[in-house]
Amino acid sequence: MSSPLTGQFPTYRPRRLRQSPALRRLVAETRLSIEQLVLPLFVRPGRKVRRPVHAMPGVLQFSPDELLREASQAQELGVPAVLLFGIPDRKDEKASGAYARRGIVQQAVRSLKKELPDLIVITDVCLCEYMSHGHCGIVRRNKSGVHILNDPTLKLLARAAVSHADAGADVVAPSDMMDGRVRAIRAALDQNGFAETPIISYAAKFVSALYGPFREAAESAPQFNHAVLGALGVGGGGITELLRCPVSTLFTGSKRSSVIPPPPTP
Ligand SMILES: [Zn+2]
Repeated sequence: MSSPLTGQFPTYRPRRLRQSPALRRLVAETRLSIEQLVLPLFVRPGRKVRRPVHAMPGVLQFSPDELLREASQAQELGVPAVLLFGIPDRKDEKASGAYARRGIVQQAVRSLKKELPDLIVITDVCLCEYMSHGHCGIVRRNKSGVHILNDPTLKLLARAAVSHADAGADVVAPSDMMDGRVRAIRAALDQNGFAETPIISYAAKFVSALYGPFREAAESAPQFNHAVLGALGVGGGGITELLRCPVSTLFTGSKRSSVIPPPPTP
């Protein structure tokens, strides 16, 4: 089948551009550049805290003062952006810490933007780190089991995003998998004077063992129903669903989409 992008065989022969390493490099669209790197950082309350994450050697949780030092070094090395994940001192079933004015991420954003104004500060927008049960949304338990309530959760996500933008975040990055959250966050940002704040959504998220170490780093392991509820199932979602998620988030207002964990490379 021909398409406007590809043309039709034999007019279109994609192997023509794969004939040598130099030719492949010439037409490569994806290039690794330090200017495009984002350093994920985990911030927790306290002072002079640099706590190792055992599941990820070399990765640490930082108190805001140490976070500033780490971010400053990264910026000196040429890394233009950081992505903040917060670990609050208290968790509850409303994720209050996610949108508290003096929440740990909000404090960290203020400090980074004051001391390192040129550093791009992106914030993870999710609720799991702030929920006592470790899920990314409001939970209802009844006879039929545990349910994550999609629509009520959107209000909390939007509130968290607005509070990050209010603290000075340059970009907000929702990592939950609630339906409609990009639209809800976009609307809330626009209504609160942050129409210029971009959204980078994590759009396609697979059930994967690769989350384990990350959840240890963010201290957000689910306390029950250990599957990531709402993530795409391996072999269950299929390629159509994988493609629909990022495309739909782009249409609802996200500037960029990412797929996590990234597919393994050979
Ligand atoms: Zn989450």
